[in-house]
Amino acid sequence: MKLDHKGIGMTSQRTRDRLILRLQQMGIQSDTVLEVIRNAPRHIFVDEALASRAYENTALPIGFNQTISQPYIVAKMTEALLENGAPDKVLEVGTGCGYQTAILAQLVGKVYSIERIDALLCRARERLSTLKFRNIRLKHGDGNHGWPEHAPFNGIIVSAAPVGVPQTLLQQLAQNGRLIIPVGKSGQQKLLMITRIDDGYQEEQLDLVSFVPMLEGVG
Ligand code: SAH
Repeated sequence: MKLDHKGIGMTSQRTRDRLILRLQQMGIQSDTVLEVIRNAPRHIFVDEALASRAYENTALPIGFNQTISQPYIVAKMTEALLENGAPDKVLEVGTGCGYQTAILAQLVGKVYSIERIDALLCRARERLSTLKFRNIRLKHGDGNHGWPEHAPFNGIIVSAAPVGVPQTLLQQLAQNGRLIIPVGKSGQQKLLMITRIDDGYQEEQLDLVSFVPMLEGVG
């Protein structure tokens, strides 16, 4: 597939380099994560009408009242997940357009991703198969329940915010596994990194964030 068909302007190296510089300025340090983001064709994950803005460091609408996450947030969550080495098996809750899924698939062994809105999942599936990923499994469902058949996971990334951390996701974390999750009501959310340790869980706050709410059931 020709990824550059919409013109050199928005997919040019300079536009992407500018995004990477911005992410570095905001504190992202992992060269591995930055390189994967630099090379990821974010413009194919948004509507054509918005493609010219795909390499800005902003969230953009993807339909159904949802957004593609801001590149800084994708970088921050991915960097936190990989801090102690690349996890083998990762669960993602909230596939959305599939952008974060594509980033993860290049950095971890296998990605299991759940989305509650079927139409978004279908489009994500098409894009990800066009890009020829072989280590991604997608499922239509409610991520509050995790994916018990494939648990435990070495890492879990949640890209919608519940009001509290779902117990089920904590239970599906492997020993030393990490859960990266935004928690709280709209306007007052914290991005948390929760690590499963011998006798429980260790929690660290990474940032203040603004995510769409994590909902119950399927859309
Ligand atoms: N990483 C995605 C983020 C999309 S926004 C991207 O960059 O495109 C968050 C997504 O979480 C939305 O698509 C929303 O439908 C989904 N979502 C919200 N609650 C959910 C739940 N309980 N289970 C699965 N997906 C959920």
